[in-house]
Amino acid sequence: MAYQSVNPYDGKTVKTFDEMTNPQLETAIATAATTYETWRHKTYAERAVIVAKAAALMHERADEFARLVTLEMGKRIDEARGEVEFSSQILAYYAKNAERFLAPVKLNPAIGQAHMESSPIGVIFAVEPWNFPYYQLARVAGPHLMAGNVLLVKHASCVPQCAIAFEKLWIDAGAPAGLYTNLLISHEQSDRVIDDPRIKGVALTGSVAAGQSVAARAGNKLKVSSMELGGSDAFIVLDDADLDHTIKWAVWGRMYNTGQTCCAAKRFIVVEEKADEFLAKFRAALAELKPGNPMDEKTSLGPLSTESALVDLLKQVDGAVAHGAKVVLGGKRIDRPGSFMEPTILTGITPKNPAFREEFFGPVALFFRVKNEDEAIALANDSDFGLGGSVFTKDEARGQRVASRVETGMMFINNISWSDAELPFGGIKDSGYGRELGDMGIQEFVNKKLVRFGSIEAPPTVVAAPALVGSGVS
Ligand code: NAP
Repeated sequence: MAYQSVNPYDGKTVKTFDEMTNPQLETAIATAATTYETWRHKTYAERAVIVAKAAALMHERADEFARLVTLEMGKRIDEARGEVEFSSQILAYYAKNAERFLAPVKLNPAIGQAHMESSPIGVIFAVEPWNFPYYQLARVAGPHLMAGNVLLVKHASCVPQCAIAFEKLWIDAGAPAGLYTNLLISHEQSDRVIDDPRIKGVALTGSVAAGQSVAARAGNKLKVSSMELGGSDAFIVLDDADLDHTIKWAVWGRMYNTGQTCCAAKRFIVVEEKADEFLAKFRAALAELKPGNPMDEKTSLGPLSTESALVDLLKQVDGAVAHGAKVVLGGKRIDRPGSFMEPTILTGITPKNPAFREEFFGPVALFFRVKNEDEAIALANDSDFGLGGSVFTKDEARGQRVASRVETGMMFINNISWSDAELPFGGIKDSGYGRELGDMGIQEFVNKKLVRFGSIEAPPTVVAAPALVGSGVS
């Protein structure tokens, strides 16, 4: 049974779900394609009624939505509530701003007049991960439904109840059948969806391996795609950093969502003046976190999302140690029921260690000591990933200079406030391409059409070719 709700707090299976049959999948695609033909012609105001209603319902039912997240993937309940509220805000943001973002843009050609206009492109297929079971869905649903597209979504196999709850949200908000459809499908069926000519775009958030597979498939059919993949973000601490402030962000940046965040701080790069003090304080702060029931507000350390996530992470730590890394904190499973891991710090990771280039998706911090700012930047950039990153310094101008030199999609100075409905989110290198959220996020799956007009007399046929070549037409 591929789609399963298993509570990682106690390992008990809560519910299992059958995958869709191929005829059911065909019906879902056909319904989405039919719905697109009417949805595309709705006004922004008409679309906004449904998207804003979905936002309001999420807010009203925040506790109900949040409990499902905690149940299925172990997110601490206060973080789960925060995720639900933020998802609601994202939907409301696009309901309010989509028309402005997609308004025609006037251009200034040498002859005549022109503008760019934006129109929807059709049915979009989204593949989403479990670590933010609603936020990831809101990031695609808000912009793409407001743009006039419709959505088919394959969510991760460990959060089927969240996936179904989000689909029901749209029905409750008054959406027509086929506007937003959750697909409980296999990877093979996912390939069939990508290949289907009725699907016009593919958005994936997930691992590099999934991105490579899905992007290649979409590319083979020349379909537009966006890829939001993994990261191994640098957390740079300069010699003038305020350590009390910095340590709090270090703990939050590594441990939020039990470390299972794409743009979490994963590589702690500290200049030598501050290295010993930072490591001692960071270690002490992480050691204070106490495992417990993630439904309990007082719990400071939740389980990992699944048992296999825990087993894989422990293997990764063992592999790092086998190649010379030192464990200065944790490194082991916590001896209690459920998929809990000790907060962990590894040091002594050389470029020859495979861990140097890996993403650790859980409560494992890699610590590096460097001589100075230049060395910190060079180490930050020596990564296959380029999603986010941060720098801590009392000198904001210096922070901005460092931020400009780090090769990544997002940089944060003296904080790691990763995500905001208004700010574009995404990376470079193996962290993928395209942006979600903000104005940029809604532009990914629309046709930007040039319309040129004005009274231009056709040039005489005989001289047309040289004149056109000379004007840059090819
Ligand atoms: P994953 O294994 O890639 O799964 C993500 C989604 O992709 C799931 O729905 C999964 O379905 C599906 N999937 C995987 N391989 C597929 C294939 N060959 N064909 C079709 N679908 C496929 O990722 P994960 O390990 O669960 O999630 C963590 C990763 O996501 C981390 O690397 C993290 O950094 C990244 N992430 C990135 C962002 C971002 O915005 N950049 C945000 C969150 C997470 P199944 O569950 O059925 O396998």
